[in-house]
Amino acid sequence: MNKQVTDIAIIGCGMVGLAIAHQLKQKNPNISIEIIDKENQIGLHSSGRNSGILHAGIYYPPNSLKAKVCINGAKRLKQWCQKKGLDILECGKVITPQDPKFDDQLDVLLNRGIKNGAEVYLINEQEFYSKVPYGRTSTGRALWSPNTCVVKPMEILKALASDLQRDNVRFNLGYKISNIEVKKKYLRLDNNDISQKKTIELHYGHLFNTAGLHADRVAKSFDVGDNLTLLPFKGLYWKLDSNAPINFQTNLYPVPDLDLPFLGIHISPNLDGNTYLGPTAIPAWGRENYYDFNGIEPLMAMNFLGHISRQLWKDSNGFRRYAIEQGIQGIKPFFLQAAQKLAPSLKSEHLIECKKVGIRPQLYDQAQGKLIQDFLVREGVSSTHVLNAISPAFTASFALADLILENSNFGASK
Ligand SMILES: Cc1cc2nc3c(=O)[nH]c(=O)nc-3n(C[C@H](O)[C@H](O)[C@H](O)COP(=O)(O)OP(=O)(O)OC[C@H]3O[C@@H](n4cnc5c(N)ncnc54)[C@H](O)[C@@H]3O)c2cc1C
Repeated sequence: MNKQVTDIAIIGCGMVGLAIAHQLKQKNPNISIEIIDKENQIGLHSSGRNSGILHAGIYYPPNSLKAKVCINGAKRLKQWCQKKGLDILECGKVITPQDPKFDDQLDVLLNRGIKNGAEVYLINEQEFYSKVPYGRTSTGRALWSPNTCVVKPMEILKALASDLQRDNVRFNLGYKISNIEVKKKYLRLDNNDISQKKTIELHYGHLFNTAGLHADRVAKSFDVGDNLTLLPFKGLYWKLDSNAPINFQTNLYPVPDLDLPFLGIHISPNLDGNTYLGPTAIPAWGRENYYDFNGIEPLMAMNFLGHISRQLWKDSNGFRRYAIEQGIQGIKPFFLQAAQKLAPSLKSEHLIECKKVGIRPQLYDQAQGKLIQDFLVREGVSSTHVLNAISPAFTASFALADLILENSNFGASK
């Protein structure tokens, strides 16, 4: 039995947990930090499975937390990558109305972007085709975001973790929490390796819960967020065949449904030289149900179905149409149809199946029966719980971490 005492315990070694550790060390190099993750390696969930886009702050309602941190976070992460010599693809992004009925939304997005301080321009048909020769604008208008760029998420996670290790942050990978005593500020951790059992008794000053897909479950151990649950949505990707007679030098996104938290499937050039299409947002039957039947949680799936049925019945914000559209995009011909609205010359044979898949945990308020669109952070006894670290939390991570630290009660619990 190993006994440890630390100023800060962080549960979850994704981008949000690492960014909090990074910002804490920037402010106080002597602070002691223990990061705990149930996996033996970093990046096995959202932070290592995302699209790798550094968003430019266009979509979010002004005054939302997302709007507050996205632009600043993107700028800082980009600068950090440059300092570390990590790859960045400065390719920008075009947002196109995939259907004339979405044309008005371009103006809404333009205004939001400008209010948020983003650099964003309305472009005409000629400018559109000069940027995306194989794309389509249904109305001759589109938006251009020059600052959107693409990074390698795994490369960033590894570099950040290695900096933190150098700064004496301790990583406890492959450890599960087997006991929490909230008032005593105590965690018992057991490692996953049954051949070599190890236990850590950890006494902390303050705990940050950045457990991603499981953050609501960890929060409930602290009596935080009783009415909240995370619903997992599976994001499948397809790869563009490198022999296809079309190519994309910039990100091409549709106009999203602004009442819902997903941006729609998009086409993105990647730093590995490939172009990916996706991700879908189809219900997953377990929080880690990445492939086939692996990770299915029957009870969670039944609850999820219950919540979806309730939303389908209410049909608020056009949820019914959206859910049906999204649900069928897991099937190739329907996925292709959605992608062809962005790029009409795309053919089925250009789409290569690929293993890239991520699961987006979307926070759902069970009492109000609605999906929560913004980041949500709640305080508990000597603890801070990051409950809805959805996109653009990767982009925004450094600025989001600062916001979390400014508003958390961790100073008081030391
Ligand atoms: C398909 C997809 C595409 C996306 N695209 C983008 C994008 O282009 N740009 C962008 O900015 N954002 C994007 N996002 C969102 C972004 O990836 C997330 O917002 C961000 O990675 C969340 O980071 P996190 O640290 O909260 O979660 P995670 O990366 O999931 O990390 C949580 C960690 O907690 C650990 N954990 C969970 N439970 C426990 C427990 N009980 N005990 C110990 N450890 C635990 C997990 O093992 C995991 O390592 C995308 C997400 C997905 C899924």
